[in-house]
Amino acid sequence: MKKISILGSTGSIGVSTLDVIARHSTRFSAAALAGGRNIRLLKDQIECFHPAVASVIDEAHAERLRESLPPGCATAVLSGPAGYREVARHGEASMVVSAMVGSAGLLPTLEAIDAGKDIALANKEALVMAGGLVVEKARERRVRILPVDSEHSAIHQCLAGNRPEDIQRIILTASGGPFRTFSAEQLDTVTPAAALKHPNWEMGRKITIDSASMMNKGLEIIEARWLFDVGIDRIDVLVHPKSIVHSMVAYRDGSVVAQLGIPDMRIPIAYALSFPERLRGPEAALNLIQAGPLEFFEPDPERFPCLKLARDAGRSGGTLPAVLNGANEVAVEAFLQERIRFRDLPVVILKVLDRHLPVASPDLDQILQADRWARREADYFVERIAENV
Ligand code: MG
Repeated sequence: MKKISILGSTGSIGVSTLDVIARHSTRFSAAALAGGRNIRLLKDQIECFHPAVASVIDEAHAERLRESLPPGCATAVLSGPAGYREVARHGEASMVVSAMVGSAGLLPTLEAIDAGKDIALANKEALVMAGGLVVEKARERRVRILPVDSEHSAIHQCLAGNRPEDIQRIILTASGGPFRTFSAEQLDTVTPAAALKHPNWEMGRKITIDSASMMNKGLEIIEARWLFDVGIDRIDVLVHPKSIVHSMVAYRDGSVVAQLGIPDMRIPIAYALSFPERLRGPEAALNLIQAGPLEFFEPDPERFPCLKLARDAGRSGGTLPAVLNGANEVAVEAFLQERIRFRDLPVVILKVLDRHLPVASPDLDQILQADRWARREADYFVERIAENV
């Protein structure tokens, strides 16, 4: 029995991971679960999966969760950073699924690596902020990082059995999001509700907005850079609206290897959990006849400037990717609250990046400091824009 802890069990990836565990209950069980504020869902998960430990955002939520659990429930309920640390390090687990949203996932992911747990990584922000440190610690602790992000899972599969020196380029595919065909004028007036309607994938709110702005693909370029040790400028992006080809690797002999499948996160999650074995997948299978023509387009940097912002920050490195990420998180939240417009997302991020004095080869404290600084700066610019919206 492989025991798995989940950081972010009540989010979209966490729920899908528990679905995979339930479908393969003779092979996997849940050792520890960390949720945020969704007490009702976490209560259901505890009753269904009986983890030894569950943790929530703060003590007030922990108290409510304890009261809602049936008498005799053996799950210890913890809270706050110490609780998340306990979930990340829990002795029974051999693997930790890192699926918290945004920068909050960085420290628990580092804890899990430090404790020697293999990582199934969905929290790309941890690699964007501190890729060098995360990869170095994983090497030091002999921990495997298996990607859950569908594109990176695809690349991992396309690389299997090949030599790193034969890789020519990595080609990340992007759905293009709900506004792929919108003109610049149309993009000016899009609402959060429209941005939250992703054409292919059911995901959390933050990543869905990132997907609409194509910042998600920019973060994925940086994520791929660290996962596969390939330079930023050897990672291309192609818009592929059907999300059937999940990504590709081009080799020097002219071969391009692709991984295809229906857009269902349970497939890359199961692959990460059981690697190198492949488990029986969801009922729906890929039907290429029904899927119709598979099309690919160049992304448009004019309408989707976030992609270039991320690539540039990733190329410069140091604290810049952490600043990009922190500013983006603040801007996305402000857009969701309708305080700024969709087109203000890259404006806020660029202003913050421009004002940053980057630190090369930062340590963890310098990265966290850059993240806090970026959030304060982004707050300031959001405030100024919001006055005029
Ligand atoms: Mg992805």
